[in-house]
Amino acid sequence: MSKSPWSPGWFTALMAFLLTVGTAAPWFASVLALTAPAVYADAAESLPEDDGAPAAETGQKLIALTFDDGPRRSTTTALLDGLAQRGVNATFFLIGELLVNNEDVVQRMDAEGHQIGIHTFDHVKLTGLSKTDFDAQVDKTRQCLLRILGHNDFLLRPPYGMTDQGVKKHAGCPIILWSVDPEDWRDQNTARVVQQVVSQARDGSIILMHDIFPESVDAALQIVDQLHAQGYLFVTVDQLFAARHIPLDAGKTYSDAYP
Ligand SMILES: [Zn+2]
Repeated sequence: MSKSPWSPGWFTALMAFLLTVGTAAPWFASVLALTAPAVYADAAESLPEDDGAPAAETGQKLIALTFDDGPRRSTTTALLDGLAQRGVNATFFLIGELLVNNEDVVQRMDAEGHQIGIHTFDHVKLTGLSKTDFDAQVDKTRQCLLRILGHNDFLLRPPYGMTDQGVKKHAGCPIILWSVDPEDWRDQNTARVVQQVVSQARDGSIILMHDIFPESVDAALQIVDQLHAQGYLFVTVDQLFAARHIPLDAGKTYSDAYP
């Protein structure tokens, strides 16, 4: 058994639930109602086959929108508002040091069914780090999220998508990369980003954007509207892989769920 809670997740989740429910019952109830269960590799066999997998057997085209580098209260809240209006769930890879004074934003993400992952504590490259330095980035952020959310099933997205054997060894959870990158940070040009993502999106794509720019928030919502019109369903990363019956294993990297 790994020391990471990713593998023996049920006991940890139960303890976290018992610790949390007394103080945060309303939002936790929302989580239970809205959030599909994480796909634990060790527990996958015991889960019902369609758990967390909307429209898995219907040939539905699926897309996972992912957002890095937040939370930033102004832009992240605007994005959450827009996603809620559209009934869309996404995945957010968060920066640990930005969680302070944004706990309510992160709790809202969780309560509204979005998936949450780790993007390091202060956005450093994870390659070449000692276990101690790696933990100071990843596990420190994991513990912050655990305190805020009361559960511990967070994915990892390494900054710049950089991985090595050490990253895979120390991650303690699946490592999620991407297949569509419009480099929205480069020019913060809404129209260009929309055009690029819509033209490159395929069934099973994982799209990388950044919810810290107003232009990216505008682009993301336009992307949702245009791909909705093409019949795509937006899902979290866990839901995407569950729908394709691809188990997510700790320490392995995933860039897409193309058929
Ligand atoms: Zn980043």
